[in-house]
Amino acid sequence: MVTVKNIYKAREQISDVINKTPILSSSQLSSICGNRMFFKAEHLQKTGAFKIRGATNKVKQAVKDGATFVTAASSGNHGQAVAYIANELGVPATIVVPEDVNPSKEAAIKAYNGEIERCGLTSAERLPRAEALAAENNGGVIPPYDDPLIIAGQGTVGLEILDQLDGVDVVVVPIGGGGLISGILTAIKEIKPSIKVIGVEPEKANDTYQSIQQGKITSIKEAATIADGLRTSQPGSLTFPIVQKYVDEIVLISEAEIRKALFFILQRMKQLIEPSSAVTVAAAMFDKLNVRDKNVVCVLSGGNVDLKQLGEMNPEK
Ligand SMILES: *Cc1c(COP(=O)(O)O)cnc(C)c1O
Repeated sequence: MVTVKNIYKAREQISDVINKTPILSSSQLSSICGNRMFFKAEHLQKTGAFKIRGATNKVKQAVKDGATFVTAASSGNHGQAVAYIANELGVPATIVVPEDVNPSKEAAIKAYNGEIERCGLTSAERLPRAEALAAENNGGVIPPYDDPLIIAGQGTVGLEILDQLDGVDVVVVPIGGGGLISGILTAIKEIKPSIKVIGVEPEKANDTYQSIQQGKITSIKEAATIADGLRTSQPGSLTFPIVQKYVDEIVLISEAEIRKALFFILQRMKQLIEPSSAVTVAAAMFDKLNVRDKNVVCVLSGGNVDLKQLGEMNPEK
């Protein structure tokens, strides 16, 4: 089990690579939500998402342990993060992406000197390919969430929130595979358990919500949400027990609410966030949190939006 000690260690390990991102505030959103609203700005993080925290912690350890190559099966923010840190450390990386990869995501990986390998359409096909590449090249597969070093790296977001802001009452976190929230839960509940941590999922990707209801890891058939960072079909075997132990509540958000929150933040705060981030703002805006007059921190987990797709996300379209 990951403990807060692992997260302090991760913070030391990654401090030379990551940005300590600011906490933004908005008086307009505060009055709409009936709470004092703050935003942990991981969309301003290196590579545009928090994923670089876990990836750096894990890749640095792999290199210390002798790996001369790394790979990941992800076309999204995790793939970019692994390509970025491998390039910084001078280790070659191959990112295994689906045949129908979005060209802008492929370009981002290439911009960090990551090699691209196209393979199949499902993660079930990509992961064995990544494992074979790792075995051939004396390297390691860097998993996106279900790994102690990844969880500890993501947990550094929680330590920063506690350092940067006094009197936090509630922290709101998006849930995909659960790496981010299980790290933040470990940091916050081991240091200041009176702080409430609320997880957010799209209605269309409610695998962790379902799993909590059932009391065991439960998978969903498809996760057809606009929030592409949250399209997992089930929580991880390491992340789920942490969520189950500590989370105060999980709330669900509709696709329309995600779009409205994304465009609200863009218009009013001039911040470009991706749909996976917008779920936390939507939870506050559409009154899913059931709190009043509190200091609420929404984690803005990333800002990587394909500008060609931005028009389709407009709620007024
Ligand atoms: C990966 C990701 C998430 C979800 O994180 P998990 O650790 O998989 O729960 C949320 N937002 C963004 C922007 C992401 O890239």
